[in-house]
Order: sequence, then C-alpha cells, then structure tokens
Amino acid sequence: MRANLPTYELRTPASLDETLALLANDPGVWKPFAGGTDLMVLMETGKLAHRNYINIWNLDDLRGVEITTEHVTLGALTTYTDVLTNPILRDEFPMLCQAASETGGLAIQNRGTLGGNIVNASPAADSPPALLAYDAELEFATATGSRWITYQGFHTGYKQMNMGEDELLTRIRLPRATQALKHYYRKVGTRKAQAISKVCFAAVARTNGNRIDDVRIALGSVAPIPLRCVAVETFLRGKNIDQSLVTTGKAELAREIAPIDDIRSTKNYRLRVSQNLLADFLGNIAVES
Ligand SMILES: Cc1cc2nc3c(=O)[nH]c(=O)nc-3n(C[C@H](O)[C@H](O)[C@H](O)COP(=O)(O)OP(=O)(O)OC[C@H]3O[C@@H](n4cnc5c(N)ncnc54)[C@H](O)[C@@H]3O)c2cc1C
Repeated sequence: MRANLPTYELRTPASLDETLALLANDPGVWKPFAGGTDLMVLMETGKLAHRNYINIWNLDDLRGVEITTEHVTLGALTTYTDVLTNPILRDEFPMLCQAASETGGLAIQNRGTLGGNIVNASPAADSPPALLAYDAELEFATATGSRWITYQGFHTGYKQMNMGEDELLTRIRLPRATQALKHYYRKVGTRKAQAISKVCFAAVARTNGNRIDDVRIALGSVAPIPLRCVAVETFLRGKNIDQSLVTTGKAELAREIAPIDDIRSTKNYRLRVSQNLLADFLGNIAVES
C-alpha cells in the first residue's frame, strides 16, 4: 500500500451535459474516470498525474448498443462483458469479441470499457487493432456540439491523440458490412489473458478465389500507436495469394512496423511473430488447392 496518497477530487455529475460543462469550464483540469482499470494501476504506482476526476460510470448516454441497417454503435462505456454478451457483435464482429475475451480476467471484463481502452492509448491494447480493422469511427462531444472521426488517424504519437481537453469520447460506430469478410485475430502474449500483448494482429479480407479484393490489417505492440498497416494493405490488394506474395508481404510489413525492445519482448521477436502472423493470415484466407 502507498504511504503518501495525494488528495484527489472525484465528482459524479448527474448528466452528460453537466460532465461536458465541467470539461469546458476548466479544460485540462478534469479527467474522465470510466471503469478505472487503467487509472487505478497508475494510482497504485504513484503515477496518477491529475488530481481532479469526473466519474462518468453512471452516464446512461454513454451506454448501450444501437443497431441500424448500416451500423452497430456502442456507447463509450461498453464493457468487455457487454461486447461478449451481444449476439450481433458475436455474429458480425468476432474479432472484437475475441479481443474482449482475451482482455484481462472477469473482473476487468466487467469493469473495463472500450472507451477507456481507446483513450488510454496504449500501443499494446487489444481492442484497437480489431476496431481499426473494422474501420471504426469515434464520436466526441463537447459542451457546444459533437463530431465523428475515423478511428484510423486518432492516435498521432505515443499516448498522443486527436482529442481536445474539453472532449469526451461518447460513441464508437462500426460499419456492418462484414458478412463477406474473413476475420483473423491473434493475441500473442505470455498467457492468453491477464498478460499484455507482445504482438496483436487483426485483419479482415474479402477474397475472390485466391485474389484479395479488399484487406484491412492492424497491429498492436509493434509501433508507438496501434497501427493500421496501409502500405501492406495496398501491396496485397488485387493480388493472388501465393508463396511469393507471402514473402514480399512479409518484407513490406517489416518496412511499415517499428517494434522495439522492452520488458515484455524484443524487437526481433515482435518482427518475426508479426511476419509469421501475416503469413498465417494469408494462408487462412487462401483457397485450399
Ligand atoms: C489486471 C489488468 C489486466 C488488463 N488486461 C488488459 C488486456 O489484456 N488488454 C488490454 O487491452 N487492456 C488490459 N488492461 C487495461 C484496461 O483494463 C483497459 O485498457 C480498459 O479497457 C480501460 O478501460 P477503463 O474504463 O477502465 O478506463 P479508465 O481507467 O477509466 O480510463 C483510462 C483512460 O481513458 C480515459 N477515458 C476513459 N473513458 C473516456 C471517455 N469516454 N472519454 C474520454 N476519455 C476517457 C481516462 O481519462 C483515462 O485516461 C488490463 C488492466 C488490468 C488492471
């Protein structure tokens, strides 16, 4: 237990408007506190920089799963358990469900939120690669309005993002055009859950025979941000899967990612595993001959 706990202020606004007003009146002072599963770890290690927190856990506006013909829209407070128990998500977005099932243990799955996972901005987080591969969009609200942006481009550098200090992430929107896609998600860590990824790989593809008509690939733990591998996608799109495509695809991937050595793994291991996962993905979507 820490001996010198600094003084923190935690407010629990009754509404989204009240929350946004607090953020607008003192930009940068108040920090949202969702499930607290990342923030409490920082508190325990004495690294919780802010002193003022807004408890957003009770805001119903940030909960729920809305289904239209075009989209599935998730409140930012959607927990991993919410993801896992939703039949449409299980059916149409299996990679998000797999990420949720491999995130922490039951307690973390009940309390941790997708919004917190995104804004915490860890390059090793497990849902961002799936969300990137599914072309997710994010909605941010302020006291004066709201905006939608594509998730791709949200992370701009290590723990840096395209989000103002007065903004709250409110919703995550997924296009439902996933029926014709093949989905491939692998988390490589010391254990399946309760372990931070060494590499996380999420990809979808639409194929015609052995030809890749469309593909989206995103990786975690191989760059300062969760990374959509646009150059590899461009290289693969329109090509037939054969051994030479796999070999050149692996070389393209090596150029696009930037893994590092850290306490969890090495640069070389991460590179090799990423390349092997790309080869396995291509093998999975290829037609058996
Ligand atoms: C034991 C343990 C195991 C874990 N295992 C995994 C794992 O396997 N994979 C993985 O990816 N993560 C894991 N995590 C990390 C964590 O559980 C997830 O990142 C979780 O999704 C964070 O959500 P939260 O609601 O608890 O975020 P919080 O801790 O409440 O917040 C995290 C950050 O996001 C900000 N924030 C939260 N919601 C919003 C919002 N709506 N708008 C703006 N800012 C917001 C907060 O201000 C804070 O900066 C683990 C954590 C623990 C303690």
